[in-house]
Amino acid sequence: MTAIDYQIYKWDAQNCIRCTNCRWVDFIWMASHRFSKLCPSSARFLFDAYAAHGRYDLSLAIAEGRLKWSPKILEEVYACQLCGACDVKCLRNVGLEPMQVLEWLRQKAVEDGKGPLPAHRKIAGKIAESHNRYGAPNADRLRWLPEGIELAPKAEVLYFVGCNSSFRQQRLARATARLLAATGTDFMVLGPEEWCCGNPLYSVGLVDEARRTAEHNLKAIRTSGAKMVIASCAECYQTLKVTYPRLFGFSTRDLGFEVLHLTEFLDRRLQEGKLRFPYPVEMRVTYQDPCRLGRMSEPWEHWEGRRGKYGIFDPPKKRRKGTFGAYDPARRLLQAIPGLRLEEMERRKDQAWCCGAGGGVREAFRDFALWTARERLAEALETTGAEAIVTACPYCGENFAEAIKSGDYPLQTLDIVEIMAKAIAPEGKED
Ligand code: SF4
Ligand code: SF4
Repeated sequence: MTAIDYQIYKWDAQNCIRCTNCRWVDFIWMASHRFSKLCPSSARFLFDAYAAHGRYDLSLAIAEGRLKWSPKILEEVYACQLCGACDVKCLRNVGLEPMQVLEWLRQKAVEDGKGPLPAHRKIAGKIAESHNRYGAPNADRLRWLPEGIELAPKAEVLYFVGCNSSFRQQRLARATARLLAATGTDFMVLGPEEWCCGNPLYSVGLVDEARRTAEHNLKAIRTSGAKMVIASCAECYQTLKVTYPRLFGFSTRDLGFEVLHLTEFLDRRLQEGKLRFPYPVEMRVTYQDPCRLGRMSEPWEHWEGRRGKYGIFDPPKKRRKGTFGAYDPARRLLQAIPGLRLEEMERRKDQAWCCGAGGGVREAFRDFALWTARERLAEALETTGAEAIVTACPYCGENFAEAIKSGDYPLQTLDIVEIMAKAIAPEGKED
């Protein structure tokens, strides 16, 4: 069964006015024609079927049996990063929630035995077998742990490391641990009891599989007694904070623990005077807002009810418009590092252009993922002259790194934890 009730959001599909607002930066923020688009899918493939409004039409046709699944329709449904740009744009300007239907289409494809795509199934198989997306032995989850960092057997803070930092970019987990230690924070980890957060499952429509992994992680976190869970990966962060409550029908505030991205936690420490950056990092950088840390991260409010006349939600539903995403903590941290100069790109915060990796796109449509990243690199170079594009999600970093290599761009990509780790340790001591 799909997790989203299409009957509730069918009203949106029927009443979309096809204004195409969901494809563009808000006009008041549009600084140039070159960087005025916001939906990577419609910018790349041009046809309406690759935009939120076209996918609304697809959903109606699929739901009413006027269209049958075909490889082309599956491509139209899955060649989208689920970046949320259309959602915040439409919610603010028209009042519809396209993401509900974009996700429903994938869940429906799975329910009908047609989705997800083979590349997604491969990852789902690895998660089922080994509880991480790489098929590595889950017993090795702690291999990244550096000497000299002590894990607390019991602590209020739990660091949810994530598959990428546990098995691929382990330097990010090490830098995170050093930063937590530098702020005097006792923290624990779940080790082999940490399973993939489930984002690679939920985002491609595998709801039952996502529920299974979520159930395990929720139980492990609650058993640990943690009061706060910190993630350095934007995908884990948003999945724990927003998707888990959605999957089980409650609100974020009822999780039983607080979920913070590392940048939010360290920003608090900075304000309290418990984090200092004594070592300068002489660099001109720009910052990539990860979609799942920014516009998609507002807390989830459980809602049950019906759509009345004019589509009015009965009872009223709290809308998540992306306004209160975690945009500023990372910026405050970067600005606190001596020697570092932060330059903003034209598209930023809730109007940021996606890195290209999300929603299963990097796995199934690598060319599209890299094209999307190259669009962002061009913006970074042409509008900021930065030496590095800094992000706060390992998947953005991976996609940018491959795009930089493929195009020989004169800039590098860094995770914010790497920069902060440089600023708390003398050169050469950060890893
Ligand atoms: S902004 Fe909303 S109403 Fe306008 S075309 Fe996009 S989905 Fe439809
Ligand atoms: S989620 Fe992102 S890529 Fe997908 S339709 Fe919306 S704006 Fe386009």
